[in-house]
Amino acid sequence: MKDYLVKAVAYQNQVRAYAVNTTKTVAEAQRRHAALPTATDALGRSMTAGVILGAMLKGEEKVSVKINGGGPLGTILVDSNAKGEVRGYVSNPQTNLEMNEVGKAVGTNGLLTVSKDVGLMHPFVGQIPLVSGEIGEDYTSYLSKSEQTASAVGVDVVMNPDYSVKAAGGFIIQLLPGADEDVMNKIEERMKGIAPLSSVIAEDCTPEQLLEHVLGSENVTMLESMPVQFQCQCSLDRITNAIISLGSEEIQDMIQTDGQAEANCHFCNETYHFDTEQLEALKEVAL
Ligand code: ZN
Repeated sequence: MKDYLVKAVAYQNQVRAYAVNTTKTVAEAQRRHAALPTATDALGRSMTAGVILGAMLKGEEKVSVKINGGGPLGTILVDSNAKGEVRGYVSNPQTNLEMNEVGKAVGTNGLLTVSKDVGLMHPFVGQIPLVSGEIGEDYTSYLSKSEQTASAVGVDVVMNPDYSVKAAGGFIIQLLPGADEDVMNKIEERMKGIAPLSSVIAEDCTPEQLLEHVLGSENVTMLESMPVQFQCQCSLDRITNAIISLGSEEIQDMIQTDGQAEANCHFCNETYHFDTEQLEALKEVAL
């Protein structure tokens, strides 16, 4: 099953709901960063919530989420857009705690910062103190406090004993303006009585099944779906332009000092290599 996201409404259009399976997306992030289970879990949870935040946007809009709780993982950074493309990294991908405690690995002494580029001169930035470092609760707090939208966020990654990703996915449920406040209480009450998210996604359920599980199949209406994937925005073209923009003196300096240049993209861990001959050519077109 390819990764995809569904958008839905529920409870007589009082609630909007998103669910996504991100198993392949998170596995790709793990492979690129050679991440161990706890780091994969934390990064995967944030990418899952992040890709849903992206799906709330339109056109060329983008969203970036930074989490830094002072724990051993360091910073988790996730970028996403309205096309279902998401990329992310964690400063210390080798982090692995025995009981896979994501909250402890992330830490709670810090912030979750969301920056949305909606085509205006300045991005919209919202920030909240981390609640538990478990990611889902932190995104819930961000949406409720910073965006003033009563929300429920559930995200999880299930690992295999061999450290590979078994399954990943999650949901965001939000009260629409004018909705009866009691609806969210009903949903939260219902969620207390159902099987935990990890056990549901571990059974390879579809995003539709996940929403039916959380909201009750009689309450939810699916609207549309879209593919989701790990996709970085870096390219040889972009890196080449970045080197050219350094100027001919700087490039000459690289040629003399190292005889080559290497640029690594943090987000996808791709390394771009330039030898002397290529640098000489770039120097010619630089100012
Ligand atoms: Zn990249």
